[in-house]
Amino acid sequence: MSRYWSETTRNLVPYVPGEQPKQPGLIKLNTNENPYGPSPQALEAIQAANCEHLRLYPDPASDALRDTIAGLHNVDRQQVFVGNGSDEVLAHAFNALLCHEAPVLFPDVTYSFYPVYCDLYGIAFEQVPLDEQFQIRLQDYRRQNGGIVFPNPNAPTGIALPLEQIEDLLQANSDSVVLVDEAYVDFGARSVMALVHRYPQLLVVRTLSKSHGLAGLRVGYAVGSPELIEGLTRVKDSFNSYPLGRLAQAGAQAALADSAWFIETRNRIVHSREALCLRMQEMGFEILPSSANFILARHPAIPGEQLAAQLRENNIVVRHFRRPARISAFVRITIGTEAQCDALLTVLVRLVGTRADSAITLD
Ligand SMILES: *Cc1c(COP(=O)(O)O)cnc(C)c1O
Repeated sequence: MSRYWSETTRNLVPYVPGEQPKQPGLIKLNTNENPYGPSPQALEAIQAANCEHLRLYPDPASDALRDTIAGLHNVDRQQVFVGNGSDEVLAHAFNALLCHEAPVLFPDVTYSFYPVYCDLYGIAFEQVPLDEQFQIRLQDYRRQNGGIVFPNPNAPTGIALPLEQIEDLLQANSDSVVLVDEAYVDFGARSVMALVHRYPQLLVVRTLSKSHGLAGLRVGYAVGSPELIEGLTRVKDSFNSYPLGRLAQAGAQAALADSAWFIETRNRIVHSREALCLRMQEMGFEILPSSANFILARHPAIPGEQLAAQLRENNIVVRHFRRPARISAFVRITIGTEAQCDALLTVLVRLVGTRADSAITLD
């Protein structure tokens, strides 16, 4: 606390990102990074970017990258907004599109950055409880609101919503923005992207951090109606005209163009997730049905915090959330390479034993 801080700053409770450990040799399964990394073509494009040009500012509008994204999703360039990670895109969306008199609605168990943006921008919000199965119940969002935000699939549950339910919500909710955060959509959920043509209040947010293996480059984007994108651009141009550097624009464009690498690595992660879930279920774990590149799992005999600590002693880093209380018994595990999943299973067998063993502890 400092007397030089503004009142806003004094009252902030910042988002806490997952640990980036300095210690080498750890198996890092705590922040949903992609174990296979980006397309080699993205690395080439970054290396080939003319260093002479680093002297010059980048294109403030990222037109070439936005054209690539527009082509990918069958929309116009004016329907695409890019930012320094989707976190920045989300921040601008809260500021530009979700700051109204009525509260913004989002799930009580979801990406914990949403309430942080609300506090930063002074936005009223209400957290809508998940149902007993940890699912988002979209009928609960049909009321007065200043906007609706949810990830699909949700984080950190990994559970996806059916497309039809989201479209029903869009039909019932046309007076405020519906923001669907599709950070993990490539790992198994159905995208609402095609609906942007029919619903001017729909904003779809994506990131290259997860399914494109570029968390270190910081590139995210939003697709929506030209009026929503113009609102975001007004805030961006009042904040930072050059959110994406030349290397980020070049790398992102090449990564998005390499669909072969994207599909191959995505499929490997999905395959590993399914295999890991089966093996862990045999050990007695309860795992929420995941459509993401992570799973949320709990064991009846070991509290989540303890399991995370024991894995850490064995050089495996996973994420445990103390809050909200409903998920404190779980750990969130990012899907790593096949070898990393095997190493995790080896340690888990030692920690929890087989199903037969854990049944004894339960009885
Ligand atoms: C990881 C994540 C983001 C942020 O991604 P960046 O593009 O790396 O900023 C946004 N939303 C959700 C739900 C995420 O899990």
